[in-house]
Amino acid sequence: MRKKLIYYFLGIFLLIATICFFTFNRNKETFFGKDCPFCQSFILDTNKFYEDDLVMALCTHKPIMPGHCLVIPKRHVERFEMLSDDEVLQIFRVIHKVDLAAKKAFGISAYLLWQKNGREVGQTVPHVHFHYIPRKTGDGSILKFIFKMFLVSAQKPIESAEIQKAAEKMKTAMDEPAKNLKA
Ligand SMILES: [Zn+2]
Repeated sequence: MRKKLIYYFLGIFLLIATICFFTFNRNKETFFGKDCPFCQSFILDTNKFYEDDLVMALCTHKPIMPGHCLVIPKRHVERFEMLSDDEVLQIFRVIHKVDLAAKKAFGISAYLLWQKNGREVGQTVPHVHFHYIPRKTGDGSILKFIFKMFLVSAQKPIESAEIQKAAEKMKTAMDEPAKNLKA
């Protein structure tokens, strides 16, 4: 009975949290109609740790967990359905590489992939981006994780030096031979 009550309140909390999250994001300042941050060289110079012909990977300025990255097409494309087949394929190839590197660099054991496709679901930057949000065994409950997601979106970005440090760590792990990147 007590267990059922806990699940009941947990369900209510998650429902309220989800509604608040999307409402908050919908009212948040967006980059639609402004300069795209993912096309700005001063951001890419600091945050980028991987680049090929089609795709780039960056460390985010508001990490929920250490190793929180973004995988984006090189081309400025607003929505997922506007990507070419090659870009879609390459994005997922790079996510796979990023995961292997993040496991090595940050000891990650699990991750959440997140892509907001459209303003109605809280997309704030009009350039397709996949969030790779890592978790580690024992880094807290799912509630703590959700709470952190709220907190981080309301907080100020971390210092450039810190972003650069994370990007360097990821770059080193990405550059290592694949045989050393086994999970
Ligand atoms: Zn862009």
